[in-house]
Amino acid sequence: MVLQERPLGRTGLVVKRVGFGGIPIQRIPEDEAVRAVRKAYEMGINFFDTARAYTTSEARIGEALEGVRDEVFIATKSTHRDKAGFLEDLETSLGNLRTDYIDLYQLHFVSKEEVWERIRGPGGALEGLLEAKDEGKINHLGITSHDPELMMKVLREGIFETVMIPYNYLTQKPADGLLPLCAELGVGTIVMKPFGGGALTNVRSALRYVLGNGDVDVAIPGMMSASEIEENVAVGSGSFNLSQEDLRLIEEDRNHLGDQFCRACDYCQPCPQGIPISFVLRTEDQFLRLTGWTPRLLRRIPESEAKVASCQRCGQCEEKCPYELPIMDLLPEKMGVLLKLLASREE
Ligand code: SF4
Ligand code: SF4
Repeated sequence: MVLQERPLGRTGLVVKRVGFGGIPIQRIPEDEAVRAVRKAYEMGINFFDTARAYTTSEARIGEALEGVRDEVFIATKSTHRDKAGFLEDLETSLGNLRTDYIDLYQLHFVSKEEVWERIRGPGGALEGLLEAKDEGKINHLGITSHDPELMMKVLREGIFETVMIPYNYLTQKPADGLLPLCAELGVGTIVMKPFGGGALTNVRSALRYVLGNGDVDVAIPGMMSASEIEENVAVGSGSFNLSQEDLRLIEEDRNHLGDQFCRACDYCQPCPQGIPISFVLRTEDQFLRLTGWTPRLLRRIPESEAKVASCQRCGQCEEKCPYELPIMDLLPEKMGVLLKLLASREE
């Protein structure tokens, strides 16, 4: 199996079409996480994406790749909007990743116009990014967002060499304007959430769908086990043509999930009442559908009931959800369904 590769926009980096998404490795023991990163490297993956916001992910990737630093590209991100905060994050990233340069540093989750204005204003994070590039601590500048239209505007300014955006067969909007524009501008395209944050059931069809778009350079599914890595590498090494069976599975998921489903990004957190929003929204359509009843679900559903009942309808979660989900209405609705399912199971 040889992973397909291509240039990442105008960066000059040649990346394998499947990269390593570094979110899930923060949820497993350290030795397993390091083994997963090494396994990905050994199977040919050369693009590793992480973020300051992913707790232990940077340090684990740094440990795993220390001996092969020159053979891989490391991308990370900062959510700081000011120069001082950004520069502090950069130093932490360099230390965690055990390196003196980052191949691609990205401004994380820039999904609102006012956030972008803060970043590019006096004392904003962009000043720090450009300074760090001059000093050779960063080789390329990138940006990540859930808003394709805002990105089209930002990328036309010519500052960023890559963009990271969610794209999959249920979140197709980027294919209409942003991805073709990137091809025109020579901006590298990195696709996050090719599996819809875990909602899409057939990962092979989902990955083929994303990589089959000629305007996508690299997809970065989150991975933490050897079998996930092997499966993703197998898809990235084959043909991206969708079979009749792929099309059937995609249609089934589209009918089942629609576009109002939770992608598990947890940008809606923290909730002041401690409500596990994504757990409640995802359990029926995603966890139960994929795994059936597990001890974890049997424990967490009743635990979540009182939490959901404590919602103050403050609206903070909805303001932050990039998919504009009506969380305040969905929570009691989904909780009611889960309690009914639980009761019928116990009868
Ligand atoms: S509206 Fe409810 S769920 Fe959302 S942040 Fe406020 S308390 Fe939490
Ligand atoms: S409710 Fe929205 S913000 Fe919260 S995890 Fe789901 S998709 Fe993300």
